[in-house]
Amino acid sequence: MTSKKNATPAGEKGGNRRLAEKVSERIEKDIIDDGWRVGSVLGSETELIERYGVSRAVFREAVRLVEHQQMAAMRRGPGGGLVVTEPDPGVVRNAARVYLRHAEVSRRQLMEARTALEVAGIALAAENLTESGIVRLKEALESERELIEQGFTRGHARNLHRVIAELAGNPAITLFVEVLAQLDQDIVQREWDAESSGGEHRDAARESHEAHEAIVAALVAGDAPLGQHRMRRHLQAIAALLRPEA
Ligand SMILES: [Zn+2]
Repeated sequence: MTSKKNATPAGEKGGNRRLAEKVSERIEKDIIDDGWRVGSVLGSETELIERYGVSRAVFREAVRLVEHQQMAAMRRGPGGGLVVTEPDPGVVRNAARVYLRHAEVSRRQLMEARTALEVAGIALAAENLTESGIVRLKEALESERELIEQGFTRGHARNLHRVIAELAGNPAITLFVEVLAQLDQDIVQREWDAESSGGEHRDAARESHEAHEAIVAALVAGDAPLGQHRMRRHLQAIAALLRPEA
């Protein structure tokens, strides 16, 4: 009898959850259809409960979901309601990193994905390169050179990779290049922290810097295939920085 008694609320809870997910999908669609205007109010709680035709409990569960996904947040008080928000790319990147760590992505798999994305990014960056883009690339190289002079020994600065990914003008490439580069650095760093060969790291930093200079030179010359070739070789060199089993 006890199990039967418990079955109803549990089933109801599951049903509510599914309903809340449906409502959160409708909220997402409404935000997108409205042009994702950050700061705009979708409606008051009362209005939205009526619009979506659900109970207050289900609606509040849906709000928790959209708040968690950083699409919108409920603002209380006069003039309040469900306010459209902007997803934080840092939170999204971190969630993707945590997920890939959990999925036990290998360094080889990481480098495969990075190579595909970054080589594609080179072609797009070359295609879209403007004068201000060239300035950004040169600034990135300059600050990297300064870092090395100041004794940066971590082997590889990722900033140039981020700049190239941004210049590609494709937010999907930018996001995943950042995620994979950061994750790779986490793994390399952990390995290096366990060892102690500062000189070797400094050489790696210099080699990476030279590779970056050569990649930028190809981009500035408008030679995308050469830039892609150099990027591929550079990523292979980074992959070889660790013991093969890592
Ligand atoms: Zn690099």
